[in-house]
Amino acid sequence: MSRYRVKESFYSIQGEGVQAGRPAVFCRFSGCNLWSGRLCDKPQSPCPDCDTDFVGTDGPGGGAFDTPEKLAGHLACFWPQDQQNRYLVFTGGEPALQLDAELISACKRHGFACAIETNGTRPLPEGLDWVCVSPKPGAHLSVTRGDELKLLYPYGLEPAAFESLDFAHFCLQPVDNDLAALNRKAALDYCLANPRWRLSLQLHKILNVR
Ligand code: SF4
Repeated sequence: MSRYRVKESFYSIQGEGVQAGRPAVFCRFSGCNLWSGRLCDKPQSPCPDCDTDFVGTDGPGGGAFDTPEKLAGHLACFWPQDQQNRYLVFTGGEPALQLDAELISACKRHGFACAIETNGTRPLPEGLDWVCVSPKPGAHLSVTRGDELKLLYPYGLEPAAFESLDFAHFCLQPVDNDLAALNRKAALDYCLANPRWRLSLQLHKILNVR
């Protein structure tokens, strides 16, 4: 069994949250602890609107990697010639199931600042430069500090309940489902009435990029 299983990896822009618009390499790990990925299990999961394919290793840039160095080298190949401002986002699925300090160190040796987008249910390894936590209803939150707390809205979670946590930024992101237009309006209204929260739109969907 390989040490790391990656569904896909690619170069694009960060579409969500405070870093929206920033070019980044994305490493989408396989697997999640909140949903099996099977449609029959989805209604019972905390994430019935999950729109991410994180099953297997068969996506573009995906695969199984034996060592941190091999995966870091694979990810570094996506960055353009320009060496500046290298940024790497570990996502999933749930990246904290696989990400470890050795992989972060290996990626930093390639010049990357390393970010994670996590559901916050698992402890995180040392060395991350940007921690974005997206809590899910009914799932225990073990990561209660970081750079960015990103809440889907409306999603059965009251934003005010998270404001005492130790995050630098609080983002509200409209749920992208059949009620997307209503959700955008509700999230906009909430941010205007509660300016501690900033609106997070999914820029990659607006631009129709990955
Ligand atoms: S935690 Fe994220 S990847 Fe996992 S099921 Fe929920 S939305 Fe999908």
